[in-house]
Amino acid sequence: MIRKARSKPIKLLKLEVLLERMVPNHTKKQQIVGDFVKVNAGFKGEMSLDFHLTDLLNDHYDIFQDLRLPRDKNKDLFFQIDSLIVHSRFCVLLEVKNLIGNLYFDHQFDQIIRTRDGVDETFPDPINQVELQAKYFAEWLAAHKLPSVPLYTLVVITNQKSYIRTSSKYGKKAQKIIRGNNLAKKINNYEKLHEEALLLNKERNKLSSLLNKQHTPHNPDILKSYHINTGDILTGVSCPSCNTIPMVRIKRNWFCKHCSTKSMNAHVKALQDYALLFDPIAKNKDIREFLHIESRSSAKKLLSAMNLTPTGLRKSATYTLPIPK
Ligand SMILES: [Zn+2]
Repeated sequence: MIRKARSKPIKLLKLEVLLERMVPNHTKKQQIVGDFVKVNAGFKGEMSLDFHLTDLLNDHYDIFQDLRLPRDKNKDLFFQIDSLIVHSRFCVLLEVKNLIGNLYFDHQFDQIIRTRDGVDETFPDPINQVELQAKYFAEWLAAHKLPSVPLYTLVVITNQKSYIRTSSKYGKKAQKIIRGNNLAKKINNYEKLHEEALLLNKERNKLSSLLNKQHTPHNPDILKSYHINTGDILTGVSCPSCNTIPMVRIKRNWFCKHCSTKSMNAHVKALQDYALLFDPIAKNKDIREFLHIESRSSAKKLLSAMNLTPTGLRKSATYTLPIPK
């Protein structure tokens, strides 16, 4: 069964909002669009992998999707696993690649060369990546006094149209590259290779609660990572129909001057945007500036209608804004 489900990565949510709210013609725009396309393709690939895991949805397997675990919290070192499959006799780590085009796994230089529309692009060898994650995971298990179990690693190519070739020197390693539709069969075959149950129910439960507890989503400060100034971000409520920013507040409604859309709750999205771009903790004054509301009490009413209550005293009181799931 699924013990940890996948949700949209925070980084992806942040990139989406950044693109919606950057001033037009910003010099960083192309770079950010490129990164958004990459992160989005990765997420879509992982979602399509989940479809191939449905055949393993039974009591024999615990499935953990998208883990980011500490190697050393003090040094801010983490390792990531796209999907982890736990069986009482072994575990499987999956690395997902959602690449369109012709893929050539080049053993000599530890890379994939992707050719698409006549253009070559290189990516780091995903087999090396997933093997490194398995090494970190083995250390993590030992550090938490869990039994050491056989760890298998696989690279799953989720795009059915991609044409895969490997260099002749790859040898046995080439068997680790598989397509999504062969995944369940491959994993079921591992059952035949092992007889001894190393993770009993008690250990599997311990492992599950530890993994969920230690999972630390990657949550970058997006403005800082692209060196974008606060002044380059458009403030105001965006129109749910045409995305124009800002809407104006007229008689308890948000009104779009561009397409005449009226909305009662368009500010909810704006507050989520604020939380993603700046800080989920905000004062009434910050919120008013961002929503373009002058009255302190109207802002207060909007927030309390969202069941948000202030912490702290008067003007220094803060609200914890919701981040979309
Ligand atoms: Zn509009």
